[in-house]
Amino acid sequence: MNKKAVQTTLIHSDYVAPGGFAAFPTGIHHASTVLFPNVAAMRSGQWKEKNAYTYGLHGTPTTFTLEARLAGIEGGEHCLLAPSGLAAIAMIDFALLKSGDDVLLPDNVYNPNRELGRWLSQDFGVTARFYDPMVGAGIAELIQPNTRLVWAEAPGSVSMEVPDLPALCKAAHEKGVLVALDNTWAAGLALRGFDAGADIVMHALTKYQSGGADLLMGAVITRDRALNDRLAQAHMRLGLGVGADDAFLVMRGLPTMKLRFEAHDAGARQVAAWLKARPEIAKVLHPAFEDCPGHEFWKRDFRGAGGLFSVLFDARFTEAQTDRFVDALALFGIGYSWGGPNSLVMPYRIQGMRKQWRDAGILVRFNIGLEEPGDLIADLEQALAAL
Ligand SMILES: *Cc1c(COP(=O)(O)O)cnc(C)c1O
Repeated sequence: MNKKAVQTTLIHSDYVAPGGFAAFPTGIHHASTVLFPNVAAMRSGQWKEKNAYTYGLHGTPTTFTLEARLAGIEGGEHCLLAPSGLAAIAMIDFALLKSGDDVLLPDNVYNPNRELGRWLSQDFGVTARFYDPMVGAGIAELIQPNTRLVWAEAPGSVSMEVPDLPALCKAAHEKGVLVALDNTWAAGLALRGFDAGADIVMHALTKYQSGGADLLMGAVITRDRALNDRLAQAHMRLGLGVGADDAFLVMRGLPTMKLRFEAHDAGARQVAAWLKARPEIAKVLHPAFEDCPGHEFWKRDFRGAGGLFSVLFDARFTEAQTDRFVDALALFGIGYSWGGPNSLVMPYRIQGMRKQWRDAGILVRFNIGLEEPGDLIADLEQALAAL
């Protein structure tokens, strides 16, 4: 299966329909109770073994098929589904961290991941420390004897710096520390997390895999069986099940995911290039553009960029003015998330999030949807007039 191109594996899966019935979609198996043929089968059933069905929470043919397909996209071996991207992040932290341990998170990390780190620090006896995302091999100097996990995000999904992942992973491994990569931005298409050196690859399937802005789901993918078993313990103890209909909807999105991703990417580069030429914009924080910190790592390690990027407005503009710009946009919805067909916009108070960025102008993030880029540019042009 891995010898075929991603685009082909997104369409062909190993799912086998029940005898006497054939169709392309995977069946949707709804179940809380899973029936055992007899007591001996019930007693020998192991929820961790994906070839035995024990209870709806631990998997059905629908969720097992989705897990196998997601692992295949990343070149991983094992996958666990969670009811949201954030639940997948929490599964990783609770599986790998206990009282007395230390975790390192990039300073530009997805904010709810930071919030979870703070909660672990406050109430669970874990220390969570934040590092400069551009630290690269310098992560070694931050690792303590009790550091168990380093989180990475490539790029950080608001400020967009691209880290030197191979250097960071290598330095962490030399100290015996695991790296978990939030690979939501690249979706396993623009970057495969294991190729960059990550031990655990996490996705918010809510974004490109779904593609419809109509569901929430997360995935945790690994290559190492023992590591997957530790994660599976947390998955079970925390009760992280997903609905069969949502699992089906994610699978429905997979055949078109790469084509959508490439369309988002082409549209975003066109819009970003137009914004770059505007006098109101100080910087375009898009990994494929030179303004973006870590652009050289993107060029070296990535094969695409998707639809998400940010801009920094010229420092002469006040927040009241850039808020007017955001409100004046007609084709961009004001909302979180990305990866759906509709373009989105969101202003961020980056100065409060990153101390190094205290003098930067107002940051506005765009998700370029699947609309005609020319129409989006016309909308941006009329909204810039509102500044
Ligand atoms: C959206 C997102 C998540 C969380 O996903 P949800 O399904 O919304 O909980 C995690 N990390 C990144 C980078 C995201 O963009």
